[in-house]
Amino acid sequence: MNIQNLVRANIKSLKPYSSARDEFKEFTSDLVFLDANENPFENGVNRYPDPQQIDLKTELSKLKEVPVNQILLGNGSDEVLDLIFRAFCEPKEDNIITLPPTYGMYKVLANINNVEEREVLLTDNFEPSTKAILEVANEQSKLLFLCSPNNPTGNSFSTEIVETLLKSFKGLVVIDEAYIDFSSTKSWLTRLNEFPNLIITQTLSKAYGMAGIRLGICYASSEIIAILNKIKPPYNINGLTQKKGLKRILNKNKVELEITKILEQREKLIDKLKTISFINKIYPSDANFVLVIVDDALKRYNQLLEKGVVIRNRTTQPLCENTLRLTIGTKAENKKLIQALKEL
Ligand SMILES: *Cc1c(COP(=O)(O)O)cnc(C)c1O
Repeated sequence: MNIQNLVRANIKSLKPYSSARDEFKEFTSDLVFLDANENPFENGVNRYPDPQQIDLKTELSKLKEVPVNQILLGNGSDEVLDLIFRAFCEPKEDNIITLPPTYGMYKVLANINNVEEREVLLTDNFEPSTKAILEVANEQSKLLFLCSPNNPTGNSFSTEIVETLLKSFKGLVVIDEAYIDFSSTKSWLTRLNEFPNLIITQTLSKAYGMAGIRLGICYASSEIIAILNKIKPPYNINGLTQKKGLKRILNKNKVELEITKILEQREKLIDKLKTISFINKIYPSDANFVLVIVDDALKRYNQLLEKGVVIRNRTTQPLCENTLRLTIGTKAENKKLIQALKEL
């Protein structure tokens, strides 16, 4: 597979912006920096941040066992996904494939970038339908989005199915692993170098508890990362985010402890949900949320809202009629949810 053949012509010929901080990186105290029109008075953030986020990526590289040149950071995974569209999808010509019910941003990003979105529903047990996907794909199908564990269904896709798709789809396969830290299945990161067309995205927004700093991660071959690096805004990860993200990654034990607590709460919540009469089905979850089928999703959603509990109504999604998605909160929050459900 030749990745360069998938890149848009204008991106291939693009000469990227070279920032002052790109041209001169070493911050040592005996140098006088008069190159970037910054305010010289120190306040902690008066200098432009590192455009390549080397400190942060070096730690991530150790943690995830992926070389630094196979990592790209974005202002949330949403920016990473947008960069992938802009690098590989020619508006009005190319198309991408999504597998509803799934994360809504793939479709929105396709629409923003004026790229056709082709939808292939998941099967009844929420797995990708390999045959249908390959039938819908053509020469212009540049991206296939696999969200695993999937939002909102909560399941991870079968390893065999994903492997088949990685081997037979002619474009890039983006595996969105936003919920991987809650999952009992392994990340595809360990197999990154087996598949030249594999892109994996992760985020600090969920298990790492940092939705507010906006930090998304993209892992791929060094060739794909170099293409994305060329088009990313020079200072896309601000200095405060780099500092805060680094600190959190170094505090691995705390993150793991929180994940353990959330998983414990997930099992407890599922047990309690089984006692609620109007909950007809609880789907197994490999993430920090649970999808349930109720008698009347809109009615129950509104009733919970009246009791001060905000959940997500997924009933309009295909294969998700009368479903509600419940995020796992703290012990006290989950108790409130169960109490409210019991009162209905
Ligand atoms: C929450 C979520 C993300 C996270 O996006 P960020 O921009 O990193 O906050 C990505 N993908 C899926 C499927 C999600 O549910």
